[in-house]
Amino acid sequence: MKKIVFYLVALILVVGCGGPDRSDSLVVIDAGHGGHDSGAIAGGQQEKDLVLQITKKLKKELKRKGYRVYLTRGNDRFLKLGQRTRIADKKDAKVFISIHANAISDRNRFEVVEGVETYFLQKTRDERSQRVAARENASVLIGTDQLSRDVIIDAVLNGPKIIQSHKLAIDVQNNIMKNLNSKYSGVKNGGVRPAPFYVLVGASRPSILVEVGYITNSKERKRLFTSGYQDKIAKGIAEGVGRYIDNRKKEVGF
Ligand SMILES: [Zn+2]
Repeated sequence: MKKIVFYLVALILVVGCGGPDRSDSLVVIDAGHGGHDSGAIAGGQQEKDLVLQITKKLKKELKRKGYRVYLTRGNDRFLKLGQRTRIADKKDAKVFISIHANAISDRNRFEVVEGVETYFLQKTRDERSQRVAARENASVLIGTDQLSRDVIIDAVLNGPKIIQSHKLAIDVQNNIMKNLNSKYSGVKNGGVRPAPFYVLVGASRPSILVEVGYITNSKERKRLFTSGYQDKIAKGIAEGVGRYIDNRKKEVGF
């Protein structure tokens, strides 16, 4: 009899543990560009389409893990800069993830420069980070003068969210690389980098921008537009977000 009770209790425990309840955590995913803003274009492919495909896969992965998810755009439309981060604040998101694809302008280096990079908001002297930020910022800054740009960036640079955003960036970058390396060879790890991305300004919560790869590199572009490669990126980002949120839950006040 004791044995039967033991097995019954064990069964209830196993069935009852369908995974942790994460419905208290909302993740906002921001697919970069959209509408008249195509983002980078290479080989007849557009950044805005790629990042939307990955965003939809990421939404599925996060929901499967039990998170609530909100997309700044779920179709091909343009959003102004402020609209993207305001959504994250209004919805009280735990984290804000902006998805982009990278490109370089120097044709001679198309087949040399490749890899995955994750950014968090910080001013930097690193030229490469500044170039990437300048390209991504161009489309969202139309109509904003330099003084206003400096004021909004300075307003958030000393915020407490920079350390948390850096931690989130590390978890996400590591897990993207782990997932891609499990199936694909030679994926370059561009690492975690600080850069002044305007799309991250105004989000008063941990916020990162993932550059999933260079669409100017033909090998990487081919991979990026396959469902299998996108699956690995989405899984990696979701695992990184999960790891970050789980770790923060051990801290007071999260
Ligand atoms: Zn972009």
